[in-house]
Amino acid sequence: MAAQYLTFEALRDKLIDGEKLSDISSQSGIPYYTLQKLLEKNGTSVRKIVPPKIQVLKKNLDQWNAEGLTHSQVAERVGVTDQQLYSMLYMHGLKIGRGRRPRRACDEDLQNKTDLALEFLFTKGGSVRSICRELGFEEQHHQIRKVMVDRGVDPLEFFFAFRRYAGWITIPGHPEGKANGGNQKIPCRCITCGVVTHVRLNNLLSGKSQGCKKCTTYSRMSVLVVNTGKSFDSLLSVCKELYLLEDYGNIRYHLKSKGEYSINGYTLQVVETKMNNTEK
Ligand SMILES: [Zn+2]
Repeated sequence: MAAQYLTFEALRDKLIDGEKLSDISSQSGIPYYTLQKLLEKNGTSVRKIVPPKIQVLKKNLDQWNAEGLTHSQVAERVGVTDQQLYSMLYMHGLKIGRGRRPRRACDEDLQNKTDLALEFLFTKGGSVRSICRELGFEEQHHQIRKVMVDRGVDPLEFFFAFRRYAGWITIPGHPEGKANGGNQKIPCRCITCGVVTHVRLNNLLSGKSQGCKKCTTYSRMSVLVVNTGKSFDSLLSVCKELYLLEDYGNIRYHLKSKGEYSINGYTLQVVETKMNNTEK
């Protein structure tokens, strides 16, 4: 077979594509030595164009560890199988991941206990320690908390969660304000209308806050019966007096929106509205 001509660029591309110099030589009929000379003349070598995989691994390992890549991801980037990577790491005394983390991640018993503890944390809230105590492995609560953090869970968000205080239920989330003080504000959801807000812990515990502003504000109106000139200090008492209890809701609605309403020949007028509000 007649020797073909190969430019440096074409040779370089073949090497980058993963072809071996010996194969290129036998396929093109160009002596191995001539190909080597061609690379040399251009100031490079096979080794420079296609660095050995161990060099790629060594050069990038710190960066990849910082990125938190797994064994499989590193193997893929180097271009080897997981098994090949394990032996490369072993032969060259290299490590993927930092310090003790992988050991904790491989501890099946610890992982299972964390699963169980998280199930409790996500449904009942409270502290990791008290949950671990309840489940019978309190002595491991430090380790279990670390596994939770490894998994991206912040146990502090659940410390106060899922407790009922009057019209509030506490929900997961970070408290606002100084840690561990009664003045901390806890994320809460109003059980009546679903609104979410932060409520001072002291006011939840003391019962001073009974629910959201909208749901705990009610008005008491003083009503004048225009026909008789008699006033009442609540709509309920007017309705009782004039036998209008069946229409209470309807009358209240119209008085609230217009201030005046006529029914059964009576004209009712709002004189004064007192607000009562038990929020926060
Ligand atoms: Zn509400």
